Order: sequence, then structure tokens, then C-alpha cells
Amino acid sequence: MTQQLQSQGKLYIVGTPIGNLGDLSPRAVEILRMVDFIAAEDTRVTLKLLNHFDIKKPMVSYHEHNLRQRGEYILSRICAGESCAAVSDAGMPCISDPGEDLVRLCAQQGIEAVVVPGPSAAISGLALSGLSTSRFAFEGFLSTNKKSRQEHLASLVHDTHTLIFYEAPHKLCTTLRDLKDCLGNRRITLARELTKLHEEVRRTTLAEACDYYELVPPKGEFVLIVEGYVPSQEEDGLTLDEAVAQVRQRVQDGEKLSDACKNVAAQTGFRKGELYTASLQKG
Ligand code: SAM
Repeated sequence: MTQQLQSQGKLYIVGTPIGNLGDLSPRAVEILRMVDFIAAEDTRVTLKLLNHFDIKKPMVSYHEHNLRQRGEYILSRICAGESCAAVSDAGMPCISDPGEDLVRLCAQQGIEAVVVPGPSAAISGLALSGLSTSRFAFEGFLSTNKKSRQEHLASLVHDTHTLIFYEAPHKLCTTLRDLKDCLGNRRITLARELTKLHEEVRRTTLAEACDYYELVPPKGEFVLIVEGYVPSQEEDGLTLDEAVAQVRQRVQDGEKLSDACKNVAAQTGFRKGELYTASLQKG
């Protein structure tokens, strides 16, 4: 067997801290020291981590805008025998972060991918939420495109899993309002700045969270953990007249008729067109 065939490299998916550097595992340090190079989402961010642990290692940048071309390049180096650690700025690669494509490319080429697990904001927030952890769904960031956002939220209305979202502070108020309008006034836990100096966990309702963050501008990083759908007896047996009354109430509160019909349809199971026609007829 030639040297080249003997020594195909490996890809290591390495979790890094979401704030507290003490959370980088000894095994992660060992792997970062051992690999030939590191594929980093932002090399400047990773350099700070490497400096802290006195690790000197060549890096290549691998982020959402160069995934395709850089992925092929990284793969070619691994095929030639080098080992690579993929890291993101914080937390687990592949979870709302680059990495998924690299793992897929390796799988297609028969290259071994090894995980070196680390913290993830989603699971850490869920663990602290006080909400049901037995079944949950990770929803990541909601789209900024209004239509895809509404479709995404509408698809969650009857989902009984605890729902996990990521959000940037400057978009938090809008997202809380959209969650409340679409899912109703459910319980929510907002986990902020986990593992950092200003870590804070707020267990509240969507309506109260909207009011609070209108007054106190959100700062730092947030994970939102939202209670899943709990079927109520009234809702199960809702009549068309009652659903139409809900549409009218929303219109009175300032929603457009078509939006009100769409939202009530998502919550009750009646079809939007059916509610629209009924609302006009009975109006
Ligand atoms: N891959 C990362 C992980 O596994 O957690 C997530 C990366 S995603 C681009 C960044 C988002 O994760 C932030 O906008 C925030 O919603 C959440 N996040 C990251 N660090 C956090 C922290 N320390 N506390 C709360 N949320 C955090």
C-alpha cells in the first residue's frame, strides 16, 4: 500500500464554548493541537481561542459564503492525507453554523468524520427552560422574509414539541410579537448570555416578554424556548361561528381580514377561505 493510500485524513467536528472558555473540553484541545489544519468560520474569532490555549495551527476560513469552493479545497487536503478540525465561532458546528456540507462531502467520499462534542446554545437553553424536554424541535433562526416566516410559524401552530429558536437582539421584539400573534400567549423561556457574566434566564409568557422587551432593549445573545401546542377542549370543539368571532376580534384589534383569517385558520384547523367567506357573509 502506498503512503498516500494508508494515510487518508479525517474530519473532526469540534464544539467550542458559547461564552465560557472553560467549556472547551480537554479532548477538543488535544484534537486542535493534533490536526494538520483548522477550518474556521471566522479565523479572527478562532485565533483568540487558540491563543488562549497556546495552540498554533494553520487555519482556512470556511463560512456560509464560500462553502462550496472552500469545501472542495478542504476535502482535497483531507483526501491527500491531512486531518482537519472544523470549528464555528461558538458552539457546535453544523447547528445554525457551517459544517453540514463538509460532513456530507466527506460522507460522499468515504472519509471518516468524527465528532468532538461541545456546548450548544439550543440544548443549554432547553435544559434551563423548565419546559418539557422530553420532545423538542429545533427551529433555528426565523426567516426575515415575511412570507417564509409566516409559513414557518403557521406550520408550528399545532406542533406539540417544545420549540427552540435562535434570535439576534435587534430582532427579538419583532420575533416575540410574531410568535405571540401566531402561536398565542404561550409560556416562553428566554435564555440570555449563557455561560457568560450576564447569564440570565427569564421564564414568562409571550405577552409579558413582548411588554418587557419593549421597555428594556434586549442586549446579548438569546435562545428562545417556547412551550409546544397544548390542545384545549374548547379549541377541539370550536364551531365555525366561534372561529369567525375570533377573526372579527382580530380585525377589530387592527389585523387585516386576510391575515386574521390565515392566523385563525392556522390555530383552529378551519380553512382560510371558509373563514373569509363566513366572515363576509355574517358581517
Ligand atoms: N452553533 C451554535 C450553537 O451550537 O449553539 C449556534 C450558532 S448561531 C449562529 C448563534 C445564535 O446562537 C445566537 O444568535 C443566539 O441565538 C445563540 N447563542 C449563541 N451563544 C449563546 C449564548 N451564550 N447564550 C444564548 N444564546 C446563544
